[in-house]
Amino acid sequence: MGAPTLSLEELDPKALQKIVDKAAWLIETGRVVKISDYMFYVMGRKNRHIVKVERDGLVCTCPGYKEKKICSHVVAVMAVLEMKGGLEYLDEKVRKRVMRELRMLWKGGTYR
Ligand SMILES: [Zn+2]
Repeated sequence: MGAPTLSLEELDPKALQKIVDKAAWLIETGRVVKISDYMFYVMGRKNRHIVKVERDGLVCTCPGYKEKKICSHVVAVMAVLEMKGGLEYLDEKVRKRVMRELRMLWKGGTYR
């Protein structure tokens, strides 16, 4: 089993948009709760998930993550971490792209 990696580039833009929309909503509604430096609790509409910060990236307990290696919870935590700075363990390209998408969404206020 290899290290978990984020693979936003492999997702089609619509799927990514959906994930980013959901992530923005999770953050905006205060559903991303920091438990420790290495663990976040994310409250989705129906389920709660734990996002763990590992050396090579973020890992989520939800089925979507298992399938696609990316999910709205991971993206939400990524964005929260980014806002607080210090994200050496995440790929720069991924970070920039996610933040660009999130900024666009927040500006437009069209999510939900
Ligand atoms: Zn998840």
